[in-house]
Amino acid sequence: MEYKRLGKSGLQVSRLSLGSWLTFGKLVDDKVSESLMHYAYNEGVNFFDNAEIYARGQSETVMGKILKKSNWSRDSYVVSSKVFFGTGGQLPTQKGLNRKHVVEACHQALNRLQVDYLDLYFCHRPDKQTSIEETVWTMHNLIVQGKILYWGTSEWSAQEIMEAHMFAKQNHLIGPVVEQPEYNMFARQKVEVEFDQLYKTVGLGTTIWSPLASGLLSDKYLSKFPKNTRLGVEGLEWLREKNLTEEKINKVRSLDDLAKELGLSLPKMSLAWCLKNEHVSTVILGASKLSQLEENLSSLVELNRLDANVMEKIEAILDNKPEKPTF
Ligand code: NDP
Repeated sequence: MEYKRLGKSGLQVSRLSLGSWLTFGKLVDDKVSESLMHYAYNEGVNFFDNAEIYARGQSETVMGKILKKSNWSRDSYVVSSKVFFGTGGQLPTQKGLNRKHVVEACHQALNRLQVDYLDLYFCHRPDKQTSIEETVWTMHNLIVQGKILYWGTSEWSAQEIMEAHMFAKQNHLIGPVVEQPEYNMFARQKVEVEFDQLYKTVGLGTTIWSPLASGLLSDKYLSKFPKNTRLGVEGLEWLREKNLTEEKINKVRSLDDLAKELGLSLPKMSLAWCLKNEHVSTVILGASKLSQLEENLSSLVELNRLDANVMEKIEAILDNKPEKPTF
């Protein structure tokens, strides 16, 4: 495993990490979740990603039980939670980034994960109802109280992240160190263009999500629709519609041919492509089977297979390179 500093923070995270969205406490049996975490940890993965909303708290409960049972030294792993969506409650005090919910959600996550502190705490989305000032103060205080070590954002705009930094700096508070954006061959704008200045100015780190576009970047959707896969799950029609478009499928077919020419699987090539971006601190993997995790973790050794020539071929297939402003 290789490790990389999370932006300009001193925290080193494994380049490949493991997340639990739609898997732990939901589509995957607890025994499988345990085997995934154990395999990842033994392969050097040190970051496990979670959120209050995942399976409405159940994902954290499952992960907490595994952490407790495994009895790994607390200084050997990094665990996160995210606040914003709540765990299903619809009252105005049960979601958002206001001080009340952020503090209460932190306490609840600590209980479910059975840890004394969270290493990373993310604001899962921007909250238009709460001032950024209130959220920055709240995160700063949680750090001072020892309940969280670092904080970050997820799917915030560059402007919102900058605003948080400016307020933190003016008031000698601790600002966010990390953003968690979607990044894969079909979602490139934020990581490749929008955050460009933030890597230089505030030293932003990134923990990127859905690197395989929910499994689309594999060969399984290229022929008969497979059984028991995420994009076929009832209730996730929105995710299927977002990913399974004709245009994307055609590109996946060409990408799959290229991967096979290289002697790689498409998931490995797609993950290595994400890792090639120097602004990606860690790629958060999702897996519903141990065999997927084994395959995905082996992408790191394939990095140098993606030389300039291969990267050009991928670019030609994707034909979606986001343009950087020229002024
Ligand atoms: P991916 O895009 O990699 O999707 C993972 C899914 O793809 C697996 O559950 C599996 O689903 C399928 N898959 C994985 N590996 C393979 C393989 N080798 N071959 C074929 N199919 C495969 O990542 P996720 O969308 O799960 O995102 C990763 C993590 O990022 C999440 O767990 C979460 O921690 C975080 N996240 C954060 C978000 C945010 O807003 N901050 C939003 C979403 C995710 P199946 O077998 O069912 O087809």
